[in-house]
Amino acid sequence: MGSTGDLPKTYKGVVYDEPGKVSTKIVDLDMPEPGPGEVLINLTHSGVCHSDLGVMTNRWAGLPAPTQAGQVGGHEGVGKIVKMGPGTETSSVKLGDRVGIKWISAICGSCPACLSGHDGVCFNQKVSGYYTPGTFQQYVLGPANYVTPVPESLPSDAAAPMLCAGVTVYSALRKSSAKSGDWVVLLGAGGGLGHLATQIASRGMSMRVIGIDAGSKEDLVKECGAEVFIDHTKGNAEEEVKKATGGLGAQAVLVLTASNAAYAR
Ligand SMILES: [Zn+2]
Ligand SMILES: [Zn+2]
Repeated sequence: MGSTGDLPKTYKGVVYDEPGKVSTKIVDLDMPEPGPGEVLINLTHSGVCHSDLGVMTNRWAGLPAPTQAGQVGGHEGVGKIVKMGPGTETSSVKLGDRVGIKWISAICGSCPACLSGHDGVCFNQKVSGYYTPGTFQQYVLGPANYVTPVPESLPSDAAAPMLCAGVTVYSALRKSSAKSGDWVVLLGAGGGLGHLATQIASRGMSMRVIGIDAGSKEDLVKECGAEVFIDHTKGNAEEEVKKATGGLGAQAVLVLTASNAAYAR
């Protein structure tokens, strides 16, 4: 156990004061005490994800219950561990470490999903910013064995969106059959998910990226590493993909936009 000096008794957080509406409120919250296996993190950065809007407005049909009033949102947070709970002495993280909090805040580690390595669909998962207080606050609790260590070379502002948007597109790229050197088509390549997918696919995984988006996104998409940019508002994107790939087409297509038209293609 241990902590870094005196912590304030209260701190600021942002809550959904009227779930169902677009409405937030800054409130004072009581400092929580890390329980067994938990760490207390002083957050410095949080991403804002489109899913946060769905949770706030109760528009996410797949979630089991409406959001509670007073819930702290957010699920892409980075900060430093300032207090260790009982039983964390042997964990891989320690006081002062910079760590991240993800959409899935905690897993059980013992259900069939966890035991088969699919902890992302743990039957007993806790979701940050839904029924577990999230990252739109100055302090948050997380399990010592499930917070994500952030490498020293990665700034916190760049690390925060990796914890949901980054991992979402990385997972999709890994699960697609595409390998280094293969062409991949990214629909919505200049968006929140798309601009990360373009960088991860091209620079991180050595794939050849064809980015499709509206013309205003061309510079961004090319800066992110796309070899080919196609403006979907002009002409025939399918034909342009065939042309760019010498008639072969791409190994994988990722839809990274919420537009139904992109899925219908
Ligand atoms: Zn998210
Ligand atoms: Zn589980």
